[in-house]
Amino acid sequence: MLEEMPRINASSIATQPTSEPTFPPLVDSFGRTHESLRVSVTDACNIRCRYCMPESVLGFLPQHRLLSFDAIARVVSVMVQAGVRKVRLTGGEPLMRPKLELLVEKLRGLSGLDQIAMTTNAMMLAEKIHALEAAGLTHINISLDTLREEAFKAISRREGLDSVLEGIDAAVSSKLQVRLNALLLRELNFQDCIPLVEFARERNLFIRFIEFMPLDADRQWSQNQVVSGEEVRKHLEEHFGSLHAIERKDSAQPSSDFGFEDGKGGVGFIDPVSKPFCQACNRLRLTADGKLRNCLFGKQEWDVKSACDSNASDQVIYDIAAECTRNKYASHGIAHVDFKPPQRAMYQIGG
Ligand code: SF4
Repeated sequence: MLEEMPRINASSIATQPTSEPTFPPLVDSFGRTHESLRVSVTDACNIRCRYCMPESVLGFLPQHRLLSFDAIARVVSVMVQAGVRKVRLTGGEPLMRPKLELLVEKLRGLSGLDQIAMTTNAMMLAEKIHALEAAGLTHINISLDTLREEAFKAISRREGLDSVLEGIDAAVSSKLQVRLNALLLRELNFQDCIPLVEFARERNLFIRFIEFMPLDADRQWSQNQVVSGEEVRKHLEEHFGSLHAIERKDSAQPSSDFGFEDGKGGVGFIDPVSKPFCQACNRLRLTADGKLRNCLFGKQEWDVKSACDSNASDQVIYDIAAECTRNKYASHGIAHVDFKPPQRAMYQIGG
């Protein structure tokens, strides 16, 4: 099903000198070392973006099915001992999980973690940002797909653009590293990409355009709704003039970034459909109900909640993470004729 990539034996990597980690690095059979963990803290959300959530949800995960903050910190601490350096908190909408700053505080205590980031729709951000920043949050990505109220309602199937803009202003005035994420749906908000870029440049922010992926709960995804990064870039260059490529700071970053002649702000393109970036993927995921996933589109999951619930050793948790990593496919395979989306939708995995 998936393109062939040279397999190498992980143990040869494991013997390479590593500095702090006390467990061997999490390397898959394609030689990719995993240093980034996305942690979904809830599947609940306060809006219903049609590229992610279903219109009506029967119910979100009950409290007892959610990994506790202690269990999350435990799993993260083992992963940090295996070389993970970045954690991104996601959802659903992470701010729907009460007292999230308590988790951030626990993660900040883990030596070896360089970044504690969060992706949010910013609807509740204005009231929560100070506690999160004080607790140790370092980076924040904010979803903003349009500046038009009617398009916001059409995409998110809820009201609330004002609170999002309030949240962005609060983030901009904080010391956090702020970035905007926009997802374009051809029929609904392609026309918004220039106003969105102007909005970002006025605040000297980076905005990244993410292609629509087949992870929507309503299973309405189709190729012709996808607005490719290349298309957006051409559209922007017609308006803003030529963009100049910015060298990748991190070879595993999913985005191709560009700057403007005047240096104000920047724009990036995350093209999982038209230009997959799986060959350098260094991401693993932890779902809100305690499953480890080696890929957004992975079909298999590894339960780590039972190990936490039974107070198993760090070695047991590490072994689960190592097995999850070893079984990672080369890529998502969206372009393959027999591609099937994973059972979970985006909100049940976390972006
Ligand atoms: S699709 Fe999977 S393998 Fe590819 S970049 Fe995303 S998480 Fe990594």
